[in-house]
Amino acid sequence: MSSNYLELSEKEWEKILSKDAFKILRKKGTEPPFTGKFLNNKEKGIYVCAGCKNPLFSSETKYDSGSGWPSFWDVFSNDSIELKPDYNLGMKRIEVLCKKCKGHLGHVFDDGPKPTNKRFCINSLSLDFKKIS
Ligand code: FE
Repeated sequence: MSSNYLELSEKEWEKILSKDAFKILRKKGTEPPFTGKFLNNKEKGIYVCAGCKNPLFSSETKYDSGSGWPSFWDVFSNDSIELKPDYNLGMKRIEVLCKKCKGHLGHVFDDGPKPTNKRFCINSLSLDFKKIS
C-alpha cells in the first residue's frame, strides 16, 4: 500500500462528497451522458479527483470523443489512476479508479486518438478542475 493512499469509511466519504459525487465515486455510478459540467470545458488546467484532489488528467490531453462524457487520451502521471477489469454489464470493460482514494472515475477504451489510442471516459462528477492562468 502506497504511503499516499487515502482510506476513509463510506460514512466519512458521505460527509465530504456531494450526494451525486458519492454515487459515482463510491458506488461506481455513471452520470447521464451530455450532462456533466466539464464535458465542454476548454480551459487550461488540471483535472483532479473530486474526492481526494489527486491530479488525474491535464486539459492538454482532453478531446471531444462524442461520447457525452469528458474524454482524455492520457493520464496526468503514474500516480493518477489504477485500472481494474469490470464485468458488470455482461462484457469486459476496464474500470478507471483514482490511485490515491480508489474512487470510481469511469472506464478506458482502446478507440482513442494517437499517440496512445486510449479513451479515458470520465464522469464530470468524479472531477474538480484547477485552472491554470
Ligand atoms: Fe481520489
